[in-house]
Amino acid sequence: MTGTTLSANAGTGNQISQRLEQLQQRIEKACQHAGRNSRDVSLLPVSKTCNVQTLKCAWELGLRQFGENYLQEALAKMTQLPDDIGWHFIGPLQSNKTQAAAQHFDWVHSVDREKIARRLSAQRPATAQALNICLQVNISGEASKAGVAPDHLAALYSAVRDLPGLSVKGLMCLPLASSDPKIQQQSFRAMRELRDNVMPDAPVLSMGMSADLEAAIAEGSTLIRIGTALFGPRAQNHT
Ligand SMILES: *Cc1c(COP(=O)(O)O)cnc(C)c1O
Repeated sequence: MTGTTLSANAGTGNQISQRLEQLQQRIEKACQHAGRNSRDVSLLPVSKTCNVQTLKCAWELGLRQFGENYLQEALAKMTQLPDDIGWHFIGPLQSNKTQAAAQHFDWVHSVDREKIARRLSAQRPATAQALNICLQVNISGEASKAGVAPDHLAALYSAVRDLPGLSVKGLMCLPLASSDPKIQQQSFRAMRELRDNVMPDAPVLSMGMSADLEAAIAEGSTLIRIGTALFGPRAQNHT
């Protein structure tokens, strides 16, 4: 993918600033509703398909963390942006991509196999801080989705929790898309229960996107990954 294709959802600084304000109000309201402090919910802007200009606008608004799904696209952007940014890899990760992820990212949210965790561990530069990882759970049990099955989470966690160079922070999910808040909330509640049962000391629940952040916050999300509500709709060929 080249830089020239990455303009589908470019927004002006003004647009992003307005969307950010609206988003912060949504988060605040959801936290109030849930009896939570909004300081306990981190916003991860998801900048896949956004061009460098758009990320610079977001950076100027004070955003310092970005989530990316496509490795080559992310690496190309990183070289053109300030180095005070925390980069989160949130897309599917194949074995041949682990080296670049281990070298250039601060977080990987999409670890769902021991093999991938072992490679990230071995490939994390010794001089770097531990790579923060989340274990991705296929919470809705969809055949097409990545993620470890809930029943296999405990085994995966015990296989990866002590690997050098990694710090297992929590769980991530991409649940079945539904516009029904009750159905959204069921998946998020199941995630929270899994975390509490399997890895109670892990602080992070990476769950909730533009369409379901309220349900996620109600069930204890500590990190919401937001693309559309901040950067606008993406081109059709990007999900
Ligand atoms: C694209 C994406 C998001 C953001 O989705 P929006 O609905 O645009 O907020 C969050 N998480 C993952 C893993 C994604 O791929």
